[in-house]
Amino acid sequence: MPKYSFTCHWKECNELYDNVETLFEHLSDDHVGRRSTNNLCLTCYWNECGATAAKRDHLTSHLKIHLPFKPYICLKCRKTFKRPQDLKKHEKTHTIEHQGKSLIDEMK
Ligand SMILES: [Zn+2]
Ligand SMILES: [Zn+2]
Ligand SMILES: [Zn+2]
Repeated sequence: MPKYSFTCHWKECNELYDNVETLFEHLSDDHVGRRSTNNLCLTCYWNECGATAAKRDHLTSHLKIHLPFKPYICLKCRKTFKRPQDLKKHEKTHTIEHQGKSLIDEMK
C-alpha cells in the first residue's frame, strides 16, 4: 500500500498528513476554529478559494470539496467512493461476479 500524504493548502500552512480525516480535523480545529475559543474563521483560505460561509458547519462541509474525501468504502476490495449510490452500484458488481451473468440481464 502506498502511503499518501495530504498537504494542507490553507494559506502558508503546508502541513502534511497521512490521512485525509486528520487533515480535515486539523482544518476544522486549527484554521476554522471555534466560537468558544474565539478563533472562528468563516472564510476559506484553501489555496485562493476565498469562499465565505455564514456558519461554521457550512464552511467545514465546504472544505470537503477541497479534500479527496471518499467516505464510502467497499469492504470487499477497499475501493472508495464519494457518494453512497456509487458504492451501492459498485457493490452490485461483486454480487454479479458471484452469481453469474443472469443478474445483469435482470437489471436491464
Ligand atoms: Zn493547515
Ligand atoms: Zn474553499
Ligand atoms: Zn469492491
